[in-house]
Amino acid sequence: MSWQNLFTKVFAWFDNSNVKITDNVGESIDWMRVIPFILMHLVCLLVLVVGWSPVALWVALASYLLRMFAITAFYHRYFSHKSFKTSRFAQFLFGVLGATATQRGPIWWASHHRRHHIYSDKDKDIHSPRKGFLWSHMGWFLCLKNFSTQEHCVRDLFKFPELVLLDRFDTLVPIIYGFFMLFLGQYLEYAYPELQTNGSQMLIWGYFVSTIVLIHCTLFINSLAHIWGRQRYQTGDDSRNNGFLALITMGEGWHNNHHHYPASTRQGFFWWEIDMSYYLLRLMSLFGIIWDLKPVPANRLYSNLIQKEAQS
Ligand SMILES: [Zn+2]
Ligand SMILES: [Zn+2]
Repeated sequence: MSWQNLFTKVFAWFDNSNVKITDNVGESIDWMRVIPFILMHLVCLLVLVVGWSPVALWVALASYLLRMFAITAFYHRYFSHKSFKTSRFAQFLFGVLGATATQRGPIWWASHHRRHHIYSDKDKDIHSPRKGFLWSHMGWFLCLKNFSTQEHCVRDLFKFPELVLLDRFDTLVPIIYGFFMLFLGQYLEYAYPELQTNGSQMLIWGYFVSTIVLIHCTLFINSLAHIWGRQRYQTGDDSRNNGFLALITMGEGWHNNHHHYPASTRQGFFWWEIDMSYYLLRLMSLFGIIWDLKPVPANRLYSNLIQKEAQS
C-alpha cells in the first residue's frame, strides 16, 4: 500500500465520503476500517493503568444509560421506525446524541435496520444469526460491503442536509464526546480533588469502557435477541422476547413484540414488560418535545399468537 493510499484510508476514518465501494466487494472484513474498532477495545485495558474511582464508575454508567436511550429511542424508534413525531431541531439533537454512541450516523443505522425488518432472518437479512453468531453480532458491519448506506431504504432521511452531514462525519461527535469526558475529569481533579479522579481516568471509563459495553449490548439485539428468549408472536423470523436483554438495553429485548408490530413506540406490550425507553419517551411527550406516539392497536396485541402463549 502506497503512503498516499494509506493516508486516504486513514482520512476516511473521519470523512465517509472518501470511502469508495464498488459493487463487487465481497463480505470479507475490511481490516483498515476495523483498526479503530479494535483499538477502542484495547484502550479499555488502560483501566489497569488509570485505576478507578466511584465517580468515574458512576459517570461511565450514566454515559451508558444516556446513550443507550439515544440509540433505542432515537436511532431505533424514531429514525428507523418513525414511531413518534418531533420538531426538526429536536430531530437533529436526537441525531447528535445518538452519534455519541459511536455506532455511525442515524441515516446509516436506520437504513440497515429497516432492511433487517424487510428480510428478517431471510437470505437478504444482513445480520441474521442463521449466518453465524459472530457474523450477526459484528461481522456484518466490519465488512466493506455494508459500510455504505442502503439509500433506497432511507430516502425520507436524506431530505435533511444536517443529518446527511452528521452521517458523513460520523466520528466527529464521538471525538468531541471523548474530549468532554477528558475535560470533565480534569475539572473534577482541580475542583474536587477528594473525588480522586482525573482526565485520563474519566476518558477511559466515561467514554471507552462505557462505549464498548454499549456497542456490544446494542449488538446483542441483532445476535442474541434472535436466538435466546421466548416467542409470543408468529413473525416468520427467529426474534425473541428476553427480559434480561430488555433490562440492559432499556426495552429493546422485547424483540419478538417489536418484529410483530415495529411501528409501535413501546416494545414492552404489557405492563410487566419493563421498557425504560418508552417511559422516558412518554415523559418527553408530557413536555411537548415529542408527540403522536404510536400505540399497538388492540387487535394486534392478540393477533398471530403462538398457540402455547394463546392458551396460557
Ligand atoms: Zn430483529
Ligand atoms: Zn426495529
